Amino acid sequence: MSLSLYPSYPAFSALPQGGEPNTSASPLPVSLVPAKPLASSANPVANAYLARAVRLSKAHLHREAQPYFQQATTHQPSQVKAWLQLGNNALHTDSPTVAIQAGKSALAALTSSTEPDTIRHEQALSALLLLGQAYHKSQQPLLALQVLQQAQQVAPNLDDVTRRIGLLNLEQTHRGGLMQGDVLLSSAQLSQVAAPTLEDAQKLILQYFTARNRRDLVDSLFTIPVRVLGTDKQEPPVAGLAEYRHANREIVLTPELAFAKPPVVAAYWLHELVHAWDNDALTSIMEEEDGYRAAIPFWDWVQKDRKKAGLSAVNELNLDFAHQSWVNSVDKLDFLVRDTYAHQLPGVLESSPGHGRPLISANPTQERENDLQEQSDKLAQYENTRQSLLAEESQWPGQIS
Ligand SMILES: [Zn+2]
Repeated sequence: MSLSLYPSYPAFSALPQGGEPNTSASPLPVSLVPAKPLASSANPVANAYLARAVRLSKAHLHREAQPYFQQATTHQPSQVKAWLQLGNNALHTDSPTVAIQAGKSALAALTSSTEPDTIRHEQALSALLLLGQAYHKSQQPLLALQVLQQAQQVAPNLDDVTRRIGLLNLEQTHRGGLMQGDVLLSSAQLSQVAAPTLEDAQKLILQYFTARNRRDLVDSLFTIPVRVLGTDKQEPPVAGLAEYRHANREIVLTPELAFAKPPVVAAYWLHELVHAWDNDALTSIMEEEDGYRAAIPFWDWVQKDRKKAGLSAVNELNLDFAHQSWVNSVDKLDFLVRDTYAHQLPGVLESSPGHGRPLISANPTQERENDLQEQSDKLAQYENTRQSLLAEESQWPGQIS
């Protein structure tokens, strides 16, 4: 599966969940005009709250983390990073109203931020993407569109923005003039929208295999079907951005990827082909590393090829972020993959029998037992971390005073 390695990535695959009252108000305009320098001093109390909030959030204790993020922002309202983390955490607890307030506060804090322009630019984008997701979740599609259009002005080539706008626009079309309410798009509908993109993505992969003298890999490109999942909740959602479903021998893409550019779809397609090429239904850290090791050199090749042809760059938060690490070294990319998957998939194995080990094992029963032991050790460790984090609760906030 293709999980995003980019930190604080506001995943857009979830459907509008509704349930919360509309708190409509225009989002704040983003100004990237250099701010007046302010004396910004580190706030140790805010940082202590933030550190604890991040630890809880990483242990999937999102509900428990929320008050600590809130304390961090109360003690230091000028810290944009804390507002963004609060907002993204709130999306995990189905609290879009909290996420909306956090996104707006992040934008407000940005107007007096003294961070370098590159960081302010990145934070403005994160805040707008967060707001887009939060408005979408709280069934305010027009506000979601509005903030994403602002994001598009900040970063016109960013695929994450244009594909979300594409999905929202199609939903609006199907809403038939109504401004509210759920719109459910089927897998067939979205796959039809994506058909030309899938065709172009396939051509790109073919060119890439040819350039790399790997025509031997071509067969699987035609025998393993790819489709986009619907937003109609008829099937389990995609974990991350794309997933290989072993039982059906098919690759499924998250709904927004129906509107992605072909090189983006192709990169995730390649990652998933790595899962399809191995011989068991398990995933592992090693397999995910190999998935990214397949996708990112392709992404590098695409960018160079586009440059040569005089075409504009295609940007994507996750792929660009992974690419930056890969340019440094493959080890850096592996480390990033390991860190992300180990956090997001507690108990994930180091390797699986069908991947990275001889297929014919001398002692398959023993190997299976070792795998189960490894998994249960990891899960026990994960549970221990959660319990000890929760046990520290009584010492707060005394611990920081
Ligand atoms: Zn994967």
